[in-house]
Amino acid sequence: MKILKDHSLQAYNTFGLDAKAKQFAAIKSARTISTFLKGNKEALFILGGGSNMLLTNNIEALVLKNEIKGIEIIREFKNQVHVAVGGGENWHQFVLWAIRKKLGGIENLSLIPGTVGASPIQNIGAYGVELKDVFVKLEAIDLSTGKKKVYFKNDCQFGYRDSIFKKKLKGKVLISKVVFRLSKNPKINVSYGAIQSILKEKKIKKPSIKNVSDAVIQIRSSKLPDPKVLGNAGSFFKNPEISKRKFKNLQQQFPNIVFYDLPSGKVKIPAGWLIEQCGWKGKKIGNTGSHAQQALVIVNYGNATGSEIKAHAERVIESVKNKFNIALTPEVNII
Ligand SMILES: Cc1cc2nc3c(=O)[nH]c(=O)nc-3n(C[C@H](O)[C@H](O)[C@H](O)COP(=O)(O)OP(=O)(O)OC[C@H]3O[C@@H](n4cnc5c(N)ncnc54)[C@H](O)[C@@H]3O)c2cc1C
Repeated sequence: MKILKDHSLQAYNTFGLDAKAKQFAAIKSARTISTFLKGNKEALFILGGGSNMLLTNNIEALVLKNEIKGIEIIREFKNQVHVAVGGGENWHQFVLWAIRKKLGGIENLSLIPGTVGASPIQNIGAYGVELKDVFVKLEAIDLSTGKKKVYFKNDCQFGYRDSIFKKKLKGKVLISKVVFRLSKNPKINVSYGAIQSILKEKKIKKPSIKNVSDAVIQIRSSKLPDPKVLGNAGSFFKNPEISKRKFKNLQQQFPNIVFYDLPSGKVKIPAGWLIEQCGWKGKKIGNTGSHAQQALVIVNYGNATGSEIKAHAERVIESVKNKFNIALTPEVNII
């Protein structure tokens, strides 16, 4: 394992922030890292695609960049297959692989940046599908012992952009492999109006998983800034979930409030709407600001520091709290 010193992370995070890793190593296999960890005393930090983190400082730990590759069908059933994927595989490339093999279940998650190994951490989701819907199990390496552990769905405590890997196991394991259940006879999920509109426009009556993926790619490309052009980490905040009582009170004050009733009895309010109502949409302060098309996305206009972006996020949180008495929580990992 080659260890580099004072290595810039600018090319490894989608905000494009020039933080440095005191030490940096790319991990190509689970076995190498297991062996290394058995004698290790260094503090460690796991890096995937850097698309869900805000680096506010240099990283004093040894940064391990997950580059464990491989996609393999490990079990085949009548209607489905189990696919084992290396944690360092690019998520979207895996989606495209599944589409080429005509295996359905993840087409709605097209174009989400990052690695397969990070996908269970916040139970990635988009357009009516979440990772947990296709998850079977994962293999992780305990960073303190180097031993392999297996986590099944029930162990992972999946929730909305949440899992045990964001809580009790945060920073404690490296996810080296994930096993997914994909369908040979996919049920198409076009519950989102935007997907339906594109399919209608293209006069597609019986959409394939490829058609759905193409529609999702089209919508995402038109709505979200491309990190290669404008640094960002996608949605910066989670959509808050509040009690029905609190919602009714708010609705009296703000009759146009946008909301979704949840099966839990709570009410979800789009964070983007709240931020927009506070006047942040398209507002630029110094090198950072809230994106003009999607207020939920905070962008780096070029030379922002992580601290500047964090300060902007704090301004947004404060104004939403003052206006709506709702505390926004970041979806992005602030490091
Ligand atoms: C333009 C854009 C759009 C996005 N859209 C969506 C969306 O629609 N839905 C959605 O859910 N997310 C979305 N995201 C967020 C992001 O893509 C996901 O959270 C993704 O899973 C992060 O993967 P990553 O490899 O980049 O993780 P990183 O940013 O590298 O890491 C995130 C956290 O996980 C830890 N980590 C990473 N890999 C591992 C591992 N193998 N083992 C243990 N810990 C690890 C890191 O230490 C860090 O704390 C978007 C981001 C961008 C930039």
